[in-house]
Amino acid sequence: MTTHGTAAPTDFIRAIINEDLKTGKYGGRVHTRFPPEPNGYLHIGHAKSICLNFGIAAQYGGLCNLRFDDTNPVKEEEEYVESIIEDVRWLGFDWQDRLFYGSDYFEQMYEYAVQLIKAGKAYVDDLSADEVRQYRGTLIDPGRESPHRSRSVEENLDLFERMRAGEFADGSRVLRAKIDMSSPNLNMRDPAMYRILHAEHHRTGDRWCIYPMYDWAHGLEDSIEGITHSICTLEFEDHRPLYDWFLEELGVYHPQQIEFARLNLTYTIMSKRRLLQLVERGHVTGWDDPRMPTVSGLRRRGYTPESIRSFCERIGVAKTDSTIDVALLEHCIREDLNKRAPRVMGVLRPLRVVIDNYPEGQTEEVDAVNNPEDPDMGMRKVPFSRVLYIEQDDFREDPPDKFFRLAPGREVRLRYAYLITCVDVVKDERTGEVVELHCTYDPETRGGTTPDGRKVKGTIHWVSAAHALEAEVRLYDRLFTVEDPGDVADFESVLNPNSLETVTGCVESSLAGAAPGNRYQFERLGYFCVDSKDSSSGRLVFNRTVTLRDTWAKIEKKL
Ligand code: ATP
Ligand code: MG
Repeated sequence: MTTHGTAAPTDFIRAIINEDLKTGKYGGRVHTRFPPEPNGYLHIGHAKSICLNFGIAAQYGGLCNLRFDDTNPVKEEEEYVESIIEDVRWLGFDWQDRLFYGSDYFEQMYEYAVQLIKAGKAYVDDLSADEVRQYRGTLIDPGRESPHRSRSVEENLDLFERMRAGEFADGSRVLRAKIDMSSPNLNMRDPAMYRILHAEHHRTGDRWCIYPMYDWAHGLEDSIEGITHSICTLEFEDHRPLYDWFLEELGVYHPQQIEFARLNLTYTIMSKRRLLQLVERGHVTGWDDPRMPTVSGLRRRGYTPESIRSFCERIGVAKTDSTIDVALLEHCIREDLNKRAPRVMGVLRPLRVVIDNYPEGQTEEVDAVNNPEDPDMGMRKVPFSRVLYIEQDDFREDPPDKFFRLAPGREVRLRYAYLITCVDVVKDERTGEVVELHCTYDPETRGGTTPDGRKVKGTIHWVSAAHALEAEVRLYDRLFTVEDPGDVADFESVLNPNSLETVTGCVESSLAGAAPGNRYQFERLGYFCVDSKDSSSGRLVFNRTVTLRDTWAKIEKKL
């Protein structure tokens, strides 16, 4: 990971940093930060920014801060702070002793504001929010100057102090920067710096009743922390002139802002506001519902930090917006778990099979490979007996072409065990549903071998009924039915009603001690993870992380 200095840049941001290192712009320092607002849980888009900022710091032997941009008391909560800390750490990044809060700088920001007032660069405005909006003008019409714009420095200082002291009602006044009401950039038309808000802040309590606006605060936070490269998403490109103006007028340290395209994913909503709506309206069970694109949701779903980092590395960073196929994210977790996840046998929709010629009460153990991708993971013993469960889908009374699994009169291989032939089908008299199969096994085929060389195409998984552990298995599908739910105004109307199916299946006995968070490949079915919230010693609950079908690999082949 450490290619300190000016290795060939892999993207335009690293190219800028290389150049700055060459010219000595920041004295050879590289100092980035990840600045979340604690108003929701982190999502996969944030992971992109985290990997970028912490990754750059690591690559150049620099530093990366974790900073909470907590300037809005109304929407922010301690719960979010804690979840963000946990998620960044889980992703594998370390801010050492540099955990900061924008709110720690409130006093400094206030002093900076006073400095601008004294320089005649900021004024207190009494216009209402509506009036401010009307005065601002539009992209084609210039704005108009507020009648309060020409207040004296003394009057502004007095009013601003009294704003802080709590003399005025919420929304009755704002402090604005005095820039240019006719600027083609709307952000430069005397933007608000402070608003009055008598609200409790999660860290500063009721110490403040004026709060800095994001645009005023953000650049100052970066400046105060000595950030060299302030990496942010494209929508802040138009705000950069304003950040530059603030820092220049104050004459303080000035980081370089660099914008990159935010991550968009197919079938996924990425806005925190909308994700909160999904939680609040009960469409999901919480921010960490395994269907959520949040880091905590992905973790609970079974994603590894390595797979998410690998995903972020592959998508890279660019200057223009695009949408990534969610199949790529799924490909990354398959690739990782393929190497690491122990294989086990589990049956999602059990169909009882009785092996008529196998001695009643007898049990034997067959040898199973833990991971064909990794011989070091060794072998395990799996109990085999007269009554088994197989997958309902692995039997067809009327097998179509190319169905090579079990059918009346057909022979199939039981993975690691024996070849069996279906001799009878038992149905529910009322519904006609197949409820049990009778089979015979060939004792000469132990381990699934055929000493006489006969060909058997199908191999199916199974679990010994007497040894099986019952398991609740949650099968997830995409949360939305359309590729771009973010473009649908009423995005709740495109929720997938079948995004969660819960089945009661069974798994092999080796999973008796499976700990929450453990990940497995259920042979032929996919990757599954023991649910970290609902699973306990008396109740096994699995989440399906992904199926084995890798649609991305297919797409890649076509490219
Ligand atoms: P959202 O728009 O989802 O509500 P946000 O941008 O308001 O997110 P912040 O807490 O301000 O959320 O984000 C923290 C950092 O993460 C910012 O630097 C932001 O640029 C970055 N970020 C947020 N969403 C994405 C995304 N989809 N792709 C890449 N970076 C993102
Ligand atoms: Mg934001």
